[in-house]
Amino acid sequence: MVIHELLDIETAGATADDLAAGTGISGPAARRAISAAARAPVAGAVRTHRQARVILGNPALTVYDNPRAFLMRVYNRDRALCHRLDVSDTPRPDRCRPSCANVARTDHHADQLLQQAMS
Ligand code: SF4
Repeated sequence: MVIHELLDIETAGATADDLAAGTGISGPAARRAISAAARAPVAGAVRTHRQARVILGNPALTVYDNPRAFLMRVYNRDRALCHRLDVSDTPRPDRCRPSCANVARTDHHADQLLQQAMS
């Protein structure tokens, strides 16, 4: 198991915390992000590699944070615009397209994007 797979669960869990605190979420994948957050395991609930593999095998939880693009993606390969020219099965942040159907942004991402645009 590689560390970026574990971060997927952390991103879903962090999104759940943000939503519970009243943070809004928008974008084409917002509904799927909310669903992933609702299904995210609570901190400490994943104690074995087997438990982690079962959760990570659930495509509904494939949430990745992309702080450099001020967004998160709820990954669905069939909807990913970064895969038009290759056969990779993982997101390609280096080819990220903001119009992708996998994009969701919390209010925090939107604030960061606005601050960058104004600087
Ligand atoms: S285009 Fe960007 S948001 Fe869409 S799947 Fe690829 S990396 Fe994720």
